[in-house]
Amino acid sequence: MNHDKHGFDTLAVHAGQSPDPTTGAVMTPIYQVSTYAQDGVGGHKGYEYSRTDNPTRTALQACLAALEGANYGLCFASGLAATDVILRALVRPDDLVICGDDVYGGTYRLFDKVLRLWGVSFRYADFSTADPATSIPANTKLVWLETPTNPLLKVSDIRAVAARCKAVGAILVVDNTFATPYFQRPLELGADVVIHSTTKYINGHSDVVGGFAALNDEALYTKLKFLQNAAGAVPGPQDVWLTLRGVKTLGVRMDRHQHNAERILAWLRAHPDVERVYHPFDNPVARTQMSGFGGMISFDLRGDLDRARRFVAATKLFTLAESLGGVESLIETPALMTHASIEPAKRREAGILDGLIRLSVGIENVDDLIADLDQAFRA
Ligand SMILES: *Cc1c(COP(=O)(O)O)cnc(C)c1O
Repeated sequence: MNHDKHGFDTLAVHAGQSPDPTTGAVMTPIYQVSTYAQDGVGGHKGYEYSRTDNPTRTALQACLAALEGANYGLCFASGLAATDVILRALVRPDDLVICGDDVYGGTYRLFDKVLRLWGVSFRYADFSTADPATSIPANTKLVWLETPTNPLLKVSDIRAVAARCKAVGAILVVDNTFATPYFQRPLELGADVVIHSTTKYINGHSDVVGGFAALNDEALYTKLKFLQNAAGAVPGPQDVWLTLRGVKTLGVRMDRHQHNAERILAWLRAHPDVERVYHPFDNPVARTQMSGFGGMISFDLRGDLDRARRFVAATKLFTLAESLGGVESLIETPALMTHASIEPAKRREAGILDGLIRLSVGIENVDDLIADLDQAFRA
């Protein structure tokens, strides 16, 4: 794939934004306001109340929609708020949802502990290996796909899943948080809806929690927009402004994340204490649908849980923390942290071994990052 990178960077800086008509302010102001004056009853300028619409949010929605190549975009208070609205707007009790088997833990929790109790049926499939024809039955209402996945960075063929969804009339939603539209554009590959936790790479500075959905179909958009307003899980103007600022450098950051990740990947592969490295880089399907592979790397450290615990405590530049996608490098051990709630036998069966380490490679100097990992291996 060959995305027009220059066009992307131009959109990231300008889409949805123009100098403020009243003052000429070059940057979109933070419209810290709940309500809007009307000339007479119903005589408003497109804004009545900020749950429904807010000008700072409008700018971010238009910018992110442009980056995904979408007609419509909607921002939410978190990635999970976006997920919740999509499911509740598009799925009814007794509908069947097929979901990837290692989606983000919070997505699984929302499906299994909340929406299932309202009568929605969920089934799970490993789309990185399963044939879509057998894993997506004809009565499927919606398919939820995450690629690459977390923490094993498994890749699924979006085009193949989309073709099966079209054949049975199911809606395909792709969580594009890990790849970002800079490296992967699911709508162009046949998905109906793209969602993001903008908390991660889109904002990129680990200072905002937010979510986003992009789509082309007007009827689906109308349903999501209705519930965005009816339920009200919208982000505040300060948060959308910070995200609007953060996303301007998305392309620049992703290039550096990737550059650093490639160097660290090569270094880890040559390290005697590393059993196996996980990254979309080697995956042939990834090469047909992604134009780059981003900054996430996982690897199996030789040794037990205790060795993993000591390793992640010994890094100094890599901060021990959950989450990902910020300019700063983070390290975590899924068996003890993000995936600790999964019962050990089930976790190992899913391929998440005790010595698994996940890196979110930041944009620092890569020699400094490698030196930090090196001293942690020796510790
Ligand atoms: C973090 C994350 C989410 C949830 O987003 P929040 O903003 O934390 O609600 C969903 N999907 C993926 C892949 C994530 O990494």
